[in-house]
Amino acid sequence: MIAFADCQDIRKMTVIKEIDCPKCGAKDGIEVFERDGQTIGDSVCDQCGFTIPEGVVPELYLEEIEQK
Ligand SMILES: [Zn+2]
Repeated sequence: MIAFADCQDIRKMTVIKEIDCPKCGAKDGIEVFERDGQTIGDSVCDQCGFTIPEGVVPELYLEEIEQK
């Protein structure tokens, strides 16, 4: 199952995403480090300090905020 193991390694790689801030609207204001679809560490907006906490799915977290 070497192919499967390789796939697992790729999934564990860290992805960096830039997200528009939901609070101040800064374009790509928040740099998010993501692994297996979940954030690693706090992601803070450069402009207003809005924080996405560790261990959440950014897209779902932002949706939750918009619904409040
Ligand atoms: Zn912001």
